[in-house]
Amino acid sequence: MPTCKEFLNGLGDYLDHAADPSTRELVERHIRECPNCHVVHDTTKNTIRVYRGEQAQEIAPQVASGLLDAVQRRAAMRRKPCDQ
Ligand SMILES: [Zn+2]
Repeated sequence: MPTCKEFLNGLGDYLDHAADPSTRELVERHIRECPNCHVVHDTTKNTIRVYRGEQAQEIAPQVASGLLDAVQRRAAMRRKPCDQ
């Protein structure tokens, strides 16, 4: 199964609908198998949706990378049973 790190690497493109089919498959599969990343995906998706709804524009690169950093820090703080 894909690791949390692979999931996080693909998540940005996935949520931008820019992921290639194999990345999309990896992200969707990992969401189904890893409860932590399921929550990360949900939270990130909702955050982006709210942000875009208010701003009606593309998410700024520094915002996206800051968000990803925050997500990765949070994921790193948890014990990740699936990230072998
Ligand atoms: Zn995971």
